[in-house]
Amino acid sequence: MELTYPLRYSPHSCSRQIISVPTAGTGLLRVDWFDKRILRLLFVPGGLLVFAGILALEQGWIALSAPAINFYYYGALAAGVLLALRFHSSRILFALVTLLLAQRSLVFFSNGRIASAGPGHIALEVLCILVPLNFVLFSFAQERGLALSSYLHGLGLIFFESVFVAIICRPGEGLGPDFLHPSFLAKQWLHWAKMPPLGVLAFLLAGAILLARTFLYRRPVESGFFWALTAAFLFFHAGGTKLKALAYMATAALVLFSSIIENSYFLAYQDELTSLPSRRAFNEALLALEEPYVIAGVDIDHFKSFNDRYGHDTGDQVLRMVAVKLARVGGGGQVFRVGGEEFSIVFPERVVKDVIPHLESLRLSIQDAVFQVRTIHDRRAVPHGMDRRHPVTRKKASRAPSASAGRRALSVTVSIGVAETTRKHQTPEQVIRAADKALYAAKLGGRNQIATAHSVRTRSARAAG
Ligand code: GH3
Ligand code: MG
Ligand code: MG
Repeated sequence: MELTYPLRYSPHSCSRQIISVPTAGTGLLRVDWFDKRILRLLFVPGGLLVFAGILALEQGWIALSAPAINFYYYGALAAGVLLALRFHSSRILFALVTLLLAQRSLVFFSNGRIASAGPGHIALEVLCILVPLNFVLFSFAQERGLALSSYLHGLGLIFFESVFVAIICRPGEGLGPDFLHPSFLAKQWLHWAKMPPLGVLAFLLAGAILLARTFLYRRPVESGFFWALTAAFLFFHAGGTKLKALAYMATAALVLFSSIIENSYFLAYQDELTSLPSRRAFNEALLALEEPYVIAGVDIDHFKSFNDRYGHDTGDQVLRMVAVKLARVGGGGQVFRVGGEEFSIVFPERVVKDVIPHLESLRLSIQDAVFQVRTIHDRRAVPHGMDRRHPVTRKKASRAPSASAGRRALSVTVSIGVAETTRKHQTPEQVIRAADKALYAAKLGGRNQIATAHSVRTRSARAAG
């Protein structure tokens, strides 16, 4: 039985989907808003740590002893600072310094008890604006490793704020400057938290911004900033100077510390360009496989020519786009970026005939997608080595509406080789090799098609016979 799927491109047979991909380097990637990965990113470990902290502290699960909470606080801060320095994360470093200075100056100006007026009260009012403000500013800051400039900006900001706090919290001050308690905020709806209304507003705004950044950039550090801010809010809400408040501040530091660890895991197991799991994740997934399973190799057709023609940056945008399509494959397929323009899909507990319809609709969805990309250059002339008869790049690119200012609508196709576990192919390496051979056959067969290991074997047997 011949199981190849030759694919004639028919522009009229399928509805075409227009997808817009942001410029390379923005880190933005449009995928489904609520998939498993975003939920994990959102709640692990930051959300879990904050919820565990709330349960433990509000339900009285742990006895609040001063030495234990102090150990927790300084331990989490020191560990966070060391890790931030080791991983060159100036953003996390300055967020931790902000937490430390806020807690220390509140204790200093209030002498351990916040009255309804006086320096301690003013310090509370100003600090619960500065902490969220700093978190937002540091979350937007570019990570520049050990560059002196990134440290100087952070240090300059914190120094300026410290001087400002010292000036407005002078001894003898009563309520501080009027702008800290504007009359329009004397509304009841901001009084649910035990802290100044302007501070509540600042925390709410900053929280919304940090949450939006978590969804947009999908990095553990962004989610860490959001949850650390939540714990810092609970610090002020719990009175700032009490032991319970200190435990919340320690939790904020712990969240930032763990976000660095989570980020290093993320960098090791997730491909930076496409946000798909990387080759390392693929190798690990192979170890856990049990028969039966199917492995598909997916390779973009004529991608070198595509790069030559439209530029590497445009190629990157299209790779990200194709990755979005691949991530939506059905049939329980797990997608990995295993090489430049090569992907692997693993289907545990499946045989080839189960996955073919899913791969076929994947192939069609890529063939029919029109990617709106910003082209850096377009040499127009088909470069040496490009197949002039290649139907997709040439025909589609010329037919597609080409917008001004370097925006172009482009298309690519993929070839897919599929193999399953058989008596001959029992290990993942053997199945991968069989899928590679099938992929090669799909390329030879004219590209933009699926070939199975079975069809390759049948063909070679026929040729030999
Ligand atoms: P075929 O249809 O036979 O697969 O042809 P091809 O041109 O796709 O295959 P080839 O292996 O000759 O070239 C792969 C190209 O993929 C080479 C390189 O320019 C491009 N490529 C690999 N990784 C990346 C990447 O991360 N970004 C971009 N823009 N291009 C990449
Ligand atoms: Mg290739
Ligand atoms: Mg290729």
